[in-house]
Amino acid sequence: MIRSWVAGAAVIALEVLLYLEYARLHGQFHYWLHGLIGAALGLAALATARLISRRRGDATIRPRVTPWEAAFVGHLYSALPDFLFLGGGVLHDYWMDVFAFHITAHFVPAPILTALALFLLALAGYALATTGRPRPIPTAAALGAGAVLAIVALIAAAPVPDDVQDLRSSPRLAWHVGDHTHGHAVGTPGAARSATTTPRECTTTTVGGGG
Ligand SMILES: [Zn+2]
Ligand SMILES: [Zn+2]
Repeated sequence: MIRSWVAGAAVIALEVLLYLEYARLHGQFHYWLHGLIGAALGLAALATARLISRRRGDATIRPRVTPWEAAFVGHLYSALPDFLFLGGGVLHDYWMDVFAFHITAHFVPAPILTALALFLLALAGYALATTGRPRPIPTAAALGAGAVLAIVALIAAAPVPDDVQDLRSSPRLAWHVGDHTHGHAVGTPGAARSATTTPRECTTTTVGGGG
């Protein structure tokens, strides 16, 4: 019990730090987008593992992870491209969709609302899988609805900009683009990379006039 409280406090503290860092770069939109999508992924994975272990009635395989730990790990996974950029100047690229569709997520219809709906469906799935007697069908229905929503949102997503001009005209990524591109620049590595100064320098001087 103590362990889950300590873990909970640590997760809250780390999430606050993460939020403050995104906010410092005027990137709250990205904190919530990748945070909610990642947390949904973590909760859905934990709900599935819990449901399987409960159905087998085998407590030895019951994951001892708390939902907030699973959600936090999911957030870290989903936001990894941002950490790679801010920590090492690694530009975003198409392949980074392996991190919970980190790139395409920006272009789904109503991204924050979609991410919130995914999170709430995963939370419902987790609650159904872990409270009271095992309820595989309602759990599967909640997680399945989330999967369907994710697929529909990805299919309906606007095309990912592949050059600087497009990137500048994309309201969801405009905060990334001042007089040069960085972070979320994808597609034309040459153009993006040639325009980029050092990440630290870049983020503070251009983003939303924060520098
Ligand atoms: Zn983002
Ligand atoms: Zn990003």
